[in-house]
Amino acid sequence: MNSTYDVLIIGAGIAGCAIATGLAKQGRRVVVLERSLREPDRIAGEILQPGGIAALSKLGLDDCVEGIGATPMEGYHFHWTGEQASFWFCPLSSGDGGPAVKPTGRSFHHGKFVTKLRAAVAREPNVTLLQATAVELLRDERTGGIVGAVGSREGGSSTEYRASLTILSDGSASNFRAQFTHLRPQSHSRFWGLELEASLPKPNYAHGILGHGLPIFMYQIGPHKIRMFIDIPNTAYRRLGSTDAVRAYLRERVIPTVPACMQASLTKAIETGRLRSMPNSWLPSTRTKAPGLIMLGDSANMRHPATGAGMTVALKDAVLLTELLDPSRVASLGDTNAVTNAVGKFHWKRKRHSAPLNIVAEGMYAVFVADDTTSAVIQHGLIRYIQGGEENFAMPGWLMGGVVESPLLLLYHFFKVAIYSNKLRLCESTWVGLPVVIFQSLLTICAAVSMIWRPVIGELQL
Ligand SMILES: Cc1cc2nc3c(=O)[nH]c(=O)nc-3n(C[C@H](O)[C@H](O)[C@H](O)COP(=O)(O)OP(=O)(O)OC[C@H]3O[C@@H](n4cnc5c(N)ncnc54)[C@H](O)[C@@H]3O)c2cc1C
Repeated sequence: MNSTYDVLIIGAGIAGCAIATGLAKQGRRVVVLERSLREPDRIAGEILQPGGIAALSKLGLDDCVEGIGATPMEGYHFHWTGEQASFWFCPLSSGDGGPAVKPTGRSFHHGKFVTKLRAAVAREPNVTLLQATAVELLRDERTGGIVGAVGSREGGSSTEYRASLTILSDGSASNFRAQFTHLRPQSHSRFWGLELEASLPKPNYAHGILGHGLPIFMYQIGPHKIRMFIDIPNTAYRRLGSTDAVRAYLRERVIPTVPACMQASLTKAIETGRLRSMPNSWLPSTRTKAPGLIMLGDSANMRHPATGAGMTVALKDAVLLTELLDPSRVASLGDTNAVTNAVGKFHWKRKRHSAPLNIVAEGMYAVFVADDTTSAVIQHGLIRYIQGGEENFAMPGWLMGGVVESPLLLLYHFFKVAIYSNKLRLCESTWVGLPVVIFQSLLTICAAVSMIWRPVIGELQL
């Protein structure tokens, strides 16, 4: 059996649902193949940044964060070796002179959000959403271009789905990615997650506990439900050796560091809860060169989840791609030259939003996870910088929340924090200790460069 469409989308996760909606609203005939239409049960993708909320709204999907017990996310609160610091998403002055708008993210159960997205996709008259696993991509023998895929449905029947354009949005463990990029995802650590019955000491803020061993992240995913993650590098896990050893680590090392009001619920979660883990991956994006195919979402580009940016990048990508493929620019998706041109533009234009989010995720993770003296100087500087107030953190907060898109501003603020950290050390130093502090300052700048050179180079991939 054969079916022909304008667009075939493989995977109805965040990216797949978003692009399906965007293109269907433009009048394209879209088929979406999703391996399982059951509500996903994942510990990933639970914070949506304010920039992601804005992208949802542009796609007409803003109601997907309603009715799922989502909690507003106003900023981040850090605990660092006895000190605390909060930053929030500062209000933006509205262009028309009206009241300032306060950007706010949301945190929720990933599965509930995806279920709402899929329901919205299924309501689009131009979309056919099917439970089927794409098992093979179809190629035009003459051009080598992608012309669709074979989908296997429950019961074993297979169908060829042919389309002018195939969008690969099959997630982090994509089965097809390797055919189109020489880059492979790199993973140096895993997030180990628990669900706690508790409230956070500072409601509506994501919390980070840093400088007490492995970094810990917590945020609300329901009225009295908290997700807690601990980031365990693969090398440390090999030393721990088993899930039971991770539980023991949590019991002995983590319970004492979390706020007292959460210790009882954490103890209960460690003893009786589901302890699950997922790899934290990094994958720079490359331009998809196969005619008739675009990769989107985690299949194309991944960053460390420390800042909760993946869904925001995927949604912003969907908005941009929808704009570039608008029928006023690309009348027919069968026009290979026009589509290839749009894909080229997409690769470079997306850097404006993806680069700051990717670099800040990798950079912040590098700052949080390091436990050497030089990195402690940057951690201390970061905490003090945030304590300096809105004047210091407004722009970094907007960049991290995907509200402002500017890779150069991100680099400027990253190094500003590194220089500020050195300034603190110099001010605290005595004349006798000055040569050592100056030497350490140089090391700190080198450490800051080493923390972000990899994601910066990654952004320059062709
Ligand atoms: C531990 C962890 C925590 C994270 N936390 C956050 C966070 O708080 N905030 C945030 O924004 N991001 C977070 N992320 C990243 C985020 O989860 C991803 O960026 C996002 O889910 C990517 O969406 P996607 O649509 O590309 O992939 P997915 O959401 O994974 O969707 C892929 C879909 O494709 C389907 N599929 C796969 N193969 C096939 C096939 N052959 N045929 C048919 N269907 C197929 C899958 O079933 C799935 O539904 C986190 C990641 C990790 C690892």
